Amino acid sequence: MSKRKIAVIPGDGIGPEITDAVLSILESAGFEAEWEFLEAGQPAMDKGKPPMPEETIERIREIGIALKGPTATPIGKGHKSANVALRQALDLFANVRPAKTLPGLKGPFADKRIDMIIVRENTEDLYAGIEYQAHPDVAQAIKVITRPGCARLCKYAFEMTKSQGRKRLTAVHKANIMKLTDGMFLEEFYKAAKDYPEIHADDIIVDNCCMQLVTRPETFDVLVTENLYGDIVSDLAAGLVGGLGLAPGANIGINCAVFEAVHGSAPDIAGKGVANPTALLFSALMMLRHLGENEMADRIGKAVLRVCSDGQCLTVDLGGKASTDEYKVEVIRRAQDALSV
Ligand code: ATP
Repeated sequence: MSKRKIAVIPGDGIGPEITDAVLSILESAGFEAEWEFLEAGQPAMDKGKPPMPEETIERIREIGIALKGPTATPIGKGHKSANVALRQALDLFANVRPAKTLPGLKGPFADKRIDMIIVRENTEDLYAGIEYQAHPDVAQAIKVITRPGCARLCKYAFEMTKSQGRKRLTAVHKANIMKLTDGMFLEEFYKAAKDYPEIHADDIIVDNCCMQLVTRPETFDVLVTENLYGDIVSDLAAGLVGGLGLAPGANIGINCAVFEAVHGSAPDIAGKGVANPTALLFSALMMLRHLGENEMADRIGKAVLRVCSDGQCLTVDLGGKASTDEYKVEVIRRAQDALSV
């Protein structure tokens, strides 16, 4: 039987180091795939191409599944973000970001049992990229929210909540101020809720949500929100459970899915061999589950939990001293131990 093909974008900064570690861990655990490496970010721009070249998008469209390292976004000028381009071109409308406390990790929220998933709209909102400057002293941006966009996102969020056996879905918004745009989102949320009577549906204003996320994060289950709020709230949630080095993500469309960590290219630590590959690894485990490889995903996930609770081989961002490579070797060892038990 031929191996399944998976597109891989190593990306910028720490991208190639953590991608390399993650592929080694997957292969050592017995996952068989034919990786097709594609170009995006700085390597593409060095050749005069846009950060997300058309041929890369087309290959992912054909292959249907990709594991993606971070790609840097120049601030204030230059090209459109590679991520935004990819999400819009492939219509990856739902961005799923789980945040769960890992045993043994230190931090102000270590004693809380946080286990939430944020579902973020991925193609609309202020990210639609409609900005203009009619006067040198006035810049404007347009927030685009569509009814079909809200409807499919909310349906996806309810379906995901149900399929994971979760009980509560909370819409995060600012409809008290954004009456038409966020108002429409909220309307579609409660319309979708009627088809899922077994799920407790409620809503919260985004500023109150942020406050409650830091005061009682353990009370949240699944959150669904628009693009910009989702970006901010999911980074906040990542901070609650150990930082960006641990936060995975999946971009889901009708025919394609792209799995990538929440964090960026971390240029400050790139090339030093100290980056934490866990966020990309957890993203890869979401990919394995998407492919139905649940046993393997569970086994690798448990190996990571053991390494974390043991605390002897943590990367620098988690207060340890291990290099990316040392951490990778330890995860592989633990995953193999699990097989021989
Ligand atoms: P970009 O412009 O690509 O978004 P950035 O540095 O602005 O890059 P992040 O890459 O998300 O944003 O990094 C924010 C901080 O978190 C940095 O100090 C970075 O070193 C740290 N960080 C991010 N990812 C990791 C990781 N996987 N391991 C260790 N530290 C990380």
